[in-house]
Amino acid sequence: MSYPKIIIDEKKFKNNVKVAIDMCKKHNIEVLAVTKGFCGNQRMAELYYEAGIRYFGDSRLENFAIFNKFKDVKKQLLRIPMISEIPEVVKICDSSLNGDIQVIEKISEYCLKNNLKPHEIVLMIDLGDRREGVLPEEALSTAKKIYELKGVKLIGLGCNFGCYGARVPSDESMKLFVNIQHKIEDELKIKLTHMSGGNSLSLHLVWENRMPKEINFLRMGFAMIFGTEDMYRKTIKGMYRDAFSCEAEIIEIDYKSSLPVGECGIDAFGHKPYFEDIGNIKRIICAIGKLDTMFDAMIPYDKDLKILGGSSDHLIINANDSKIKYKCGDILKFDLDWGSLLYLFNSKYVEKEFKK
Ligand SMILES: *Cc1c(COP(=O)(O)O)cnc(C)c1O
Repeated sequence: MSYPKIIIDEKKFKNNVKVAIDMCKKHNIEVLAVTKGFCGNQRMAELYYEAGIRYFGDSRLENFAIFNKFKDVKKQLLRIPMISEIPEVVKICDSSLNGDIQVIEKISEYCLKNNLKPHEIVLMIDLGDRREGVLPEEALSTAKKIYELKGVKLIGLGCNFGCYGARVPSDESMKLFVNIQHKIEDELKIKLTHMSGGNSLSLHLVWENRMPKEINFLRMGFAMIFGTEDMYRKTIKGMYRDAFSCEAEIIEIDYKSSLPVGECGIDAFGHKPYFEDIGNIKRIICAIGKLDTMFDAMIPYDKDLKILGGSSDHLIINANDSKIKYKCGDILKFDLDWGSLLYLFNSKYVEKEFKK
């Protein structure tokens, strides 16, 4: 038993996954589970599999080893392949999301040169979020170029929202997306069988019956992890918000002025901080730091606690309003968000505890 730790409630998590699968199945949509937040954790892959997931996606090739024990799963690389990793991509992954024809040409070249079966390409269309993908007006010409390449196979299209530009999917953008599909299918006389309609932020289109029938895949991380999504920020019906939590130990409790004393320079991370002067306050220091987590994605269970900040190894909390009499050695519990989950799984200093 060591701290800090991230606690995974297996029952709650698997319940979330099953609810998502059921919801999507009714609309003929396959859930492709996105595992990048778990940094290659083997047990997390098993939980997804036990809940019924057979399609997996990750952004880092190193993480794909956790799927090796499953013989009946499909693996997709979510980040546009680096040209330098193409040999591994085509060996490890069944398909990859792509946005740049130069990269796709290199993939094709490599497969042909090595007598490999064509690598499956999902062409990303940028519908406004301005991360990866070709613009709608370039989609058809790019698809034609891919079609000419003999070492790859265009199996479908993908779109993504909410990650960089914080754009949300709309009926218009989804209509544009399937119109592009139809145009490509008609022109090239092919069938695009893998229509990847977005990430967790697109899930509400499913339960609101707004997802075009052409969409048959969603790539989902966040919604099944936290039982919620960024459109409504409410717990999804039948899911749990708290399948993941964090615990950290208190190492100091003190009464000090909220305002640091002395001339102000810059903090450990190069920023000039601002402090409110509210006199002396009761403060808690926990043994967890920026090396392990992202503070603004940590939500104390005790709602009267307020995270002030911290440094690489310390988390400092204002405990002035709390009714609980904390002492050193006590454990504080936190709800998580994407940023903290990512860091906690990635930190070797954080124990991963799976609660049956
Ligand atoms: C991370 C990622 C996802 C998953 O996003 P969530 O918001 O966690 O559902 C989907 N698609 C791509 C391309 C990603 O990189």
